Amino acid sequence: MKILVINAGSSSLKYQLIDMETERVVAKGTCERIGIPGGKLTHKAHGETYVIEQELPNHTEAIALVLKELVDEKAGVIKCMDEIDAVGHRVVASGEAFTKTTLVTDEVMETMEVIKELAPLHNPAAILGVNACRAVMPGKSMALVFDTTFHATMPEYAYLYAIDYEDYKQYKVRKYGAHGTSHKYVSGEAANYLGKKPEELKIITCHLGNGSSISAVKGGKCIDTSMGFTPLAGVPMGTRSGDIDYAAAEFLCRKKGMTMEEGLTYLNKKCGMLGVSGISSDFRDLCAAEEAGDPRAILALKMFGYSCKKYIGAYMAALGGLDCIVFTAGVGENTPTVRKDILSDLGAFGIVLDEKKNDFKNDGAIHEISAADSRVKILVIPTNEELVIARETAALL
Ligand code: ADP
Repeated sequence: MKILVINAGSSSLKYQLIDMETERVVAKGTCERIGIPGGKLTHKAHGETYVIEQELPNHTEAIALVLKELVDEKAGVIKCMDEIDAVGHRVVASGEAFTKTTLVTDEVMETMEVIKELAPLHNPAAILGVNACRAVMPGKSMALVFDTTFHATMPEYAYLYAIDYEDYKQYKVRKYGAHGTSHKYVSGEAANYLGKKPEELKIITCHLGNGSSISAVKGGKCIDTSMGFTPLAGVPMGTRSGDIDYAAAEFLCRKKGMTMEEGLTYLNKKCGMLGVSGISSDFRDLCAAEEAGDPRAILALKMFGYSCKKYIGAYMAALGGLDCIVFTAGVGENTPTVRKDILSDLGAFGIVLDEKKNDFKNDGAIHEISAADSRVKILVIPTNEELVIARETAALL
């Protein structure tokens, strides 16, 4: 069985064709600059990279080009479209409308239109991606795999904001979380690695990338997560502020003459590591500046480490103990100094890092970086959101 995984953005589209017998990626690639001049497809298969520069006026043309490439005599990996058994689409937000992976139907797509406003930057692109695939591959089974699904097990007392309950009921304003497929994947992999059943474990998963979120996973189920109604909440991120007092945001809007919408853009795009450091949102740049002694890069990284540490403490309490901490995503997998900062001085809680083991270069494998006397295991596990999407899609069939 082969599953095509699609992750559509507003002007880009990433894809992977995964063979489910081996769970191997047989081809993958990215369409860039959809709807703007300078369209480009980068396709990887057979260990080669193929680049096609061609205008991509919309997502349908982009998908059509991807499919053409997948069956191409030279760059292709399948003989015909029938070899693709189903398509799995990544969707950022589900609201309360969907709590599990869902087969695409006309009715489902109507609901998707209704909940579009929950993730205005992401969900409209996913809809474009699904509609494009339906246009080019009519009749093909398709699934929507939501980033929020893994967090649907949070108890009401954890996901509610302390606002008027009637407003929650009417507007569905609550915490939904994000990066669910990643938290699901790495918590499952951690259980496998430890040779335990997920039901036996209390795990904190730290997905630290451009956007970062931390989750508490008890018995294989998410019980709390740091992102909120949108991915703005939680720890400070590349360009997002993370948790902030609403009154502080409102005060800033008044002082800087920003509308509420402009204020939201400010908090999402100009704050976080970029805002504090004044240098960059990219952790590689920040670590270089930290090494060079830049005080604001040092401060930004300190704030990041401190915030992650506080979430770990909070989630240890929420879980009633802890067996394992997992780091994943761009920063979590590649940045030993950030991991060291987060985990410093946690010995009293049974969390002890082995600094030598921590100092490795990411090779795509799982690394155990806890010291021999650490009661809590500390793992670095490369995430694989596409594989989760493919597995979920296959399971639905
Ligand atoms: P997202 O998917 O949220 O855009 P990623 O998980 O790709 O983000 O993480 C991007 C972040 O990871 C950047 O801040 C980048 O600096 C950091 N990073 C550090 N080292 C590496 C590396 N070797 N490869 C990729 N990203 C890295």
